[in-house]
Amino acid sequence: MQAYENIHQLYHLMQTKTAANLAGPYKVGVDLGTADVVLAVTDTHGTPVAGSMRWASVVRDGLVVDFRGATEIVQDLKAEVEQIMGVKLDRGATAIPPGTVGRNALACSNVIAGAGLEPVRQVDEPVAAARALRIDHGIVVDIGGGTTGVAVLKNGELIFTDDEPTGGTHVSLVLAGAYKISFEEAENLKKDSSRHQQILPVIAPVIEKMATIVKKMLAAHGDFSEYPVYIVGGTAYLAGFEQEFGKAFGREVHVPPHPLLVTPLGIAMFS
Ligand code: ATP
Repeated sequence: MQAYENIHQLYHLMQTKTAANLAGPYKVGVDLGTADVVLAVTDTHGTPVAGSMRWASVVRDGLVVDFRGATEIVQDLKAEVEQIMGVKLDRGATAIPPGTVGRNALACSNVIAGAGLEPVRQVDEPVAAARALRIDHGIVVDIGGGTTGVAVLKNGELIFTDDEPTGGTHVSLVLAGAYKISFEEAENLKKDSSRHQQILPVIAPVIEKMATIVKKMLAAHGDFSEYPVYIVGGTAYLAGFEQEFGKAFGREVHVPPHPLLVTPLGIAMFS
């Protein structure tokens, strides 16, 4: 599947800090998240060219809470990717959780503008993910750090998007409570794949809750039982997540490779 190959390719470029030898003009996407900031670059066809990321908490529940810190990180990521590519990047797209409005919605664009990227587009996060997955019919659930966003597409048309303030942060809070450790220690424990099997019984109820939330969101809008379901966002890295979520959701769901990179790739494609 071309979409999955592209996600693997972006991961490889970021790991090796290299750029694909593809001609410009280039598209830039910046994903300002609760747990990290990712900058991805593609060519005009949406093929990944380069990218970089930083763990940071500059956003909370979809809102930019550290404007200066966010701007500095985007500046750094931009400079790093420009050096890798050997070109200057001057414009980019951003994304927001569905339902973000007013000044909160403007904040992400202002951050990238402050970092030297003219904001040309702002999209809903799960809509960006759908673009990266090249889906025009299906349900995309984006479970990031602070939010769970849903986008439903029917024959290329967006039927609805919705968002709830539940995500990986809640998984970490449950781990912190269960193991009597700090939130930061819980975040590290959660990202250590060698511990995933051990922590699964502790976090299974949170995954179940996420599935129930998404089920309710969908039920309020119609019958989507025939739509394929894709789960993206860093929380979907958890081993066993696909199975636990699918069990509570009542049907099979798909987690693409490197789920944390799907939305950033899609944002770049919208640029
Ligand atoms: P949001 O979209 O909610 O603002 P975000 O953009 O930061 O947040 P993502 O980057 O998709 O969201 O995912 C971040 C979440 O994924 C964090 O909670 C982080 O702890 C979790 N995460 C990242 N890597 C892993 C991993 N390997 N295993 C488990 N969880 C992970």
